[in-house]
Amino acid sequence: MIETEDMEFAPRVISPENTTEDSDIELTLRPQTLHEYIGQEKVKENLAIYIEAAKRRGEPLDHVLLYGPPGLGKTTLSGIIAHELGVNLRVTTGPAIEKPGDLVSLLTSLSDNDVLFIDEIHRLSRAVEEILYPALEDRVIDIIIGKGPAARSIRMDLRPFTLIGATTRAGQLSAPLRDRFGVIQRLELYTKEQLTDIVRRSAMILGIPCETDGAAEIAGRARGTPRIANRLLKRVRDFADVMGDGRITRQIASIALSRLEIDALGLDSLDRRMLEMIIRGYGGGPVGLETLASAIGEESVTIEDVCEPFLMQLGFLGRTPRGRCATRLAYEHLGFAVPDNAPADDGQMRFGDSEG
Ligand code: ADP
Repeated sequence: MIETEDMEFAPRVISPENTTEDSDIELTLRPQTLHEYIGQEKVKENLAIYIEAAKRRGEPLDHVLLYGPPGLGKTTLSGIIAHELGVNLRVTTGPAIEKPGDLVSLLTSLSDNDVLFIDEIHRLSRAVEEILYPALEDRVIDIIIGKGPAARSIRMDLRPFTLIGATTRAGQLSAPLRDRFGVIQRLELYTKEQLTDIVRRSAMILGIPCETDGAAEIAGRARGTPRIANRLLKRVRDFADVMGDGRITRQIASIALSRLEIDALGLDSLDRRMLEMIIRGYGGGPVGLETLASAIGEESVTIEDVCEPFLMQLGFLGRTPRGRCATRLAYEHLGFAVPDNAPADDGQMRFGDSEG
């Protein structure tokens, strides 16, 4: 029991959120060019054309909205876009822009055609968002000077710029903001093959000897997410150093990942707890998100942003208008007897999108 409790409080190895531990290696591992960026082929093809067109015309790239689960490469892609355009990149996040004035100073400090990247753009305050509308549409900002009856508004022109907004949930963006993005691209979870390439590339950069089978083993358990793949690579390297000769083989990777309680398909203890709760506590579902979240003592955003996209991709979870259901595949994977009425993963159950 004590062990489980410890696990619950320990940070999840496979949380896709950025941690301070990641920051040191993320900088080294971030691809710099579209060519180096593995996967997301459709997004890359489209962006390559828009970037080329903008460069030929000497204009800024249209504003871009990137959405998808955390750790899939939104920040990386914005750096690549700025690099390919040959302009500067300014990085900030929605919650960091507290007052309209913060945004005004950011916008007025940009040089021609620069890229401003706002992560978690769905968390901008309403007052800040309102400054952004005319800035995006007409390249102007309205500033109020003075207070009370003496207050007056002055309009300031901005240099041409590109806003890249990133969000895990496009559905939470207000319609007027979403409409001001000319390019809207969704990033998908990566395939095992793509993640294997990412792990091999990272191992090479970090100087870790890694066999292809070892990389594939890590990739198969990284829940479609490069950030997790890179983090697991670092953890497995520790095992390889201590238990072997430093070389990452399939066997070492498999032992290490099992010790980290990540199963053969990449589910961790939270994923399993959630599915077990649906199956044992709610007869397989449907069960509402909030009920489920409080039953397992987890925040509903974590379940929605982190567990669900992955479990739905595996076909383990269905989202219906009445709540979440465990599919036959989930029963089978967790070793439960499959009841006759358990839904198959027939694609019908993928109601709505994970971004809400
Ligand atoms: P997000 O902004 O979506 O949370 P990041 O851009 O910070 O994700 O990506 C997390 C890490 O994953 C980066 O440090 C980068 O090394 C790696 N990464 C992401 N996408 C790719 C990719 N397509 N190819 C190679 N590495 C990637």
